Amino acid sequence: MIPLSIPNFEGNEKEYVDDAILQGWVSTGGAYITRLEEALAAYLHTKNVAACQSGTSALHLSLVSAGVGPGDVVLVPPLTFIAAVNPVKYQFAKPVFIDCDDSLCMDPEKIRSFCENECEKDGEKLLYHGAAVKAIVVVHVFGNLADMEQIMEIAEKYRLVVIEDATEALGTKYETGPYAGRFAGTIGDYGAYSFNGNKIITTGGGGAVTARDADEVDHLRYLSTQAKDDPHFYIHNEVGYNYRMTNLQAALGVAQMEELPEFVRRKQANYERYKVLFEGFPYAKLRGFREGTSSNKWLYALEIDRNKIHVGMRELIGALEKKGIQTRAVWGLINEQDPYRGEETYRLEKAPYYAERVLNIPCSTQITEEEIETVAKEIKQVLEECADA
Ligand SMILES: *Cc1c(COP(=O)(O)O)cnc(C)c1O
Repeated sequence: MIPLSIPNFEGNEKEYVDDAILQGWVSTGGAYITRLEEALAAYLHTKNVAACQSGTSALHLSLVSAGVGPGDVVLVPPLTFIAAVNPVKYQFAKPVFIDCDDSLCMDPEKIRSFCENECEKDGEKLLYHGAAVKAIVVVHVFGNLADMEQIMEIAEKYRLVVIEDATEALGTKYETGPYAGRFAGTIGDYGAYSFNGNKIITTGGGGAVTARDADEVDHLRYLSTQAKDDPHFYIHNEVGYNYRMTNLQAALGVAQMEELPEFVRRKQANYERYKVLFEGFPYAKLRGFREGTSSNKWLYALEIDRNKIHVGMRELIGALEKKGIQTRAVWGLINEQDPYRGEETYRLEKAPYYAERVLNIPCSTQITEEEIETVAKEIKQVLEECADA
């Protein structure tokens, strides 16, 4: 079986984890946590990063610290992993689902038109049916940078907090334009990263959070460690969370950070290989990444031509599995999941369109050239058979 995406531990992982155990620092204190935070900050060219338990907790801490509370409105994407939106519910805030554009990321034009046409201004505040519109959660889907130039402009105009869900986009950055050199997650007010097993680097489970303001990151770290105000006496001046990363996880993370540039290089090279193999293929095409950026190319999106292929995703994935190729359908729309039925959506057109067309194909960093050729050959064959049928 050629897997969709598996972790890669070719570096110092074992050595560092053994070392953490030997030293007895396995929990939420220890030198590897600091080392990981420093490595992330250096890589991302940002001052301060707080390591936490997951990408989800990073997003939750951002919302808490941004002051998003009960009844507030947060603009969210419908076509992504549900963890991007669940923290909005944790805060008893109200998600409004905004459509994506052809990058699969949130469409700035639709954010703009929602703010302009559906909301009212009340002094500094933006109101939607009387509720304060507080924030936007922008996801850089599959490592593709959302249009941050436009999104930041709109957010500034309407004074919205921008929380970048960069859980899939560690290593993605702008190459040109006003944000040249800036990494996904370091452009908005907050940026969340994930080190879950399927992400570009992994700590088993883990994440990190950054913010534009370095002091704000200290506050996020404080919230993640039960809001402890005193190292010796149990003084807590806020409601905190048990969201801190452990030293064991961080030991893995430090080793993975050493390999990150190589992982990005391989993801990019493998994408180019696939691209050549699918060039001119009439039934599906490999979707691209934003111009003017260098993407980590975390996950590859093959777009099925629904004018020619009518077979459902389940059947396609099943047929490929029989041939030893693990693939995955893009997510089901979040607004159609039980906990979100009845929540408001705004002009969803592209998200439902792509939801039935995008298939993710094997993209592990250790996939070989030969395996890539096999994957492309088998996918082509299955789609050709479907087209004839
Ligand atoms: C993985 C992921 C998350 C959650 O990260 P965890 O570390 O699994 O909590 C959130 N949003 C998106 C878009 C993701 O892909």
